[in-house]
Amino acid sequence: MPPTPSYLRSRQLLATPLSHIRGVGPRLQQVLAKANLTTVEDVLYHLPHRYEDRREIRRIAQLRDGRQEVFVGEVLASAETFTPKARKRIYEVVVADGTGQVSLKWFHYRKGWMKKRFAVGTRAVFTGEIKRFGLVREVHHPDAEILGAKSLDQIMAEDPLSFGRILPVYPLTEGLSQKVARKIFKQVVDQFAPLAVSPIPTDILKRNQILPLAQALAECHWPENPGAHLDLETGPGRARSALVFDEFFFLELGLALKRRGVVLEPGIAFAVTHKYTRPLAQMLPFRLTAAQRRVLGEIKHDMMAPHPMNRLVQGDVGSGKTIVALMAALVAIENHTQVAVVAPTEILAEQHYLQFHGWLEKLGLRAALLSGSLSNKEKSALHEKIRAGEVDLVVGTHAVLQQGVAFQRLGLGIIDEQHRFGVLQRGLLRHKGENPDILVMTATPIPRTLSLTLYGDLALSVIDELPPGRTPVKTRVLSESRREEGYRLIKKALEKGRQAYIVYPLVEESEKSELQAASAAAQALQAEVFPQHRVGLLHGRLKPQEKEAVMAAFKNREIDVLVATTVIEVGIDVPNASVMLVEHAERFGLAQLHQLRGRVGRGAEQSHCLLMQSARCSVDGKRRLEVMAETTDGFRIAEADLEIRGPGEFLGTRQAGLPDFRVANLLRDGRMLEAAREEAFRLAQNPAFLSHAQYADTRQALMDRWGSRLELATIG
Ligand code: ADP
Ligand code: MG
Repeated sequence: MPPTPSYLRSRQLLATPLSHIRGVGPRLQQVLAKANLTTVEDVLYHLPHRYEDRREIRRIAQLRDGRQEVFVGEVLASAETFTPKARKRIYEVVVADGTGQVSLKWFHYRKGWMKKRFAVGTRAVFTGEIKRFGLVREVHHPDAEILGAKSLDQIMAEDPLSFGRILPVYPLTEGLSQKVARKIFKQVVDQFAPLAVSPIPTDILKRNQILPLAQALAECHWPENPGAHLDLETGPGRARSALVFDEFFFLELGLALKRRGVVLEPGIAFAVTHKYTRPLAQMLPFRLTAAQRRVLGEIKHDMMAPHPMNRLVQGDVGSGKTIVALMAALVAIENHTQVAVVAPTEILAEQHYLQFHGWLEKLGLRAALLSGSLSNKEKSALHEKIRAGEVDLVVGTHAVLQQGVAFQRLGLGIIDEQHRFGVLQRGLLRHKGENPDILVMTATPIPRTLSLTLYGDLALSVIDELPPGRTPVKTRVLSESRREEGYRLIKKALEKGRQAYIVYPLVEESEKSELQAASAAAQALQAEVFPQHRVGLLHGRLKPQEKEAVMAAFKNREIDVLVATTVIEVGIDVPNASVMLVEHAERFGLAQLHQLRGRVGRGAEQSHCLLMQSARCSVDGKRRLEVMAETTDGFRIAEADLEIRGPGEFLGTRQAGLPDFRVANLLRDGRMLEAAREEAFRLAQNPAFLSHAQYADTRQALMDRWGSRLELATIG
């Protein structure tokens, strides 16, 4: 065993280019580089995505149904055929070993290649899950390693890496076989894993019983003593956990320092004078809920502190975030500063403007909408007013963040529906003033594991209570053949003087045709289904004034049925609407459906949500819709969504700023995230952390990984 190097030396050693490894020539180097593998460290962290148990090779007669098995067989027949029912092309290979035979099937393949690879007489080691259909046993898409002329014993003796043990199966890279990958990677792991040193302080590693990094890396590639319970999908638990902890720890440490950095900066210490907040409270037709009051208290506490506020308010759809934001805005205005409200879409900005403007006007204050539809002249006039401090509160989309917009004195920035913005926008808003307070509001319930990651640098307030008198929306999933039932329910509501939404999905690639579908549907609904009522159409292609006109007509009950694309997803508030029918519901994400459904059930009487499920809906799609029917709890819905779709898709695109983890999985590793977060935040609180030599390695690692991304240039 070489002596354990220092962290800095270890870091240098692991940066060794792969070209220095024996057996890695220029061609292989290129192949590896394509998979982003250029250094030793890249390979160490290029973990198997599953494992194969080759400790035991079974005879075909002894294969166990439903198990992942390894067996050797000789090809008896090999040909393309068709499935009996659907007449789909498949490739079938029958193999035998003297004790029995088994049928191997491929549903995606290249015919010529298959024919050559599995010619009659070929012998190979196969691995796959054994399925039984009556008397026939099948393996679909098995892994195969061709044996050639040699006997199995010969092969096993020559290639001990591939047999009699648990094998890593690496994510496939074009031009690199598992066999070569195993050989090269094993060499790298054997030589370099022992040199890996964790930059995490040892007391933290000990307290959390984290395996030494060197051992964890080696084990993850080649589990040596996995015991009986090695999970072939996730691999050796403790070894993997060590790597997961490492990733989460540095993520959270960065976030913790970022938060601390902001917290320590000077900001505006607002005074709570009640000059406007008290009159507003008296004007409101309702009392704030206990949750609203608690959250408002937390916000006021932050605003009074001499450091910038950086707070996230999370509240389910309809929990009353707007009023809380308005109250915070009034505190800022009481202190002679301005407020900026940033919304993700024009229509939501307009909606907010209408609400804020209404209340502010009653208090003798001035609100303005920075709309995309303003003429250049109007825009510069408004810019001038904002700069001169003649406007107290400005609402708009990201237009508010643009360069031409300058405030006389910005005290508070409010970002609504944060999940559509990134950390970047928060920074832009901050720079519109001198460390103004920032309040972020989101209706998307984010599972705790995700919010720790995405909003780790924000303090969190949760409005966990809905205003009283709401009746939970009744949700039903309807197949298309039962559409008439849906229409009957809508008609019944309309006869009682209520209103309804009918929502169409808008898929980006074919926006135009979807739009045509929505317009055509609106016409057909008016003519054939609701001739007695007024049907309106709202979609994203309308000009802002047109949208506003349609929304206003709906609000004033001049429209009974609003046919809409998802532009109504966020923030629209028409309490008299009590039914929503969603077409092609399976095309929506769960979080999105939850938002949509939140548009009804805003009054006291029973509301309904009807989810139309197409005949071609997938199994996953059906599961998602069932979740919607089962619960109205946004957090449960979000967790289910995350579980079914995975974090990447759950958040839409990558824009959310979710870091790429090499090993960690936010779904599986939630507990580890919390442990890592606790340790990281404690370390960040420690005054010695930024200065003591004892923590130099940890600081260096932090800079290496997140330096530019977290704007932590000042530490190190
Ligand atoms: P969201 O959190 O989804 O943004 P809103 O702020 O739009 O919710 O509030 C939803 C509705 O509930 C609005 O009509 C609002 O006026 C009303 N509301 C807010 N707070 C209360 C309360 N404490 N009691 C009764 N109604 C309330
Ligand atoms: Mg809202």
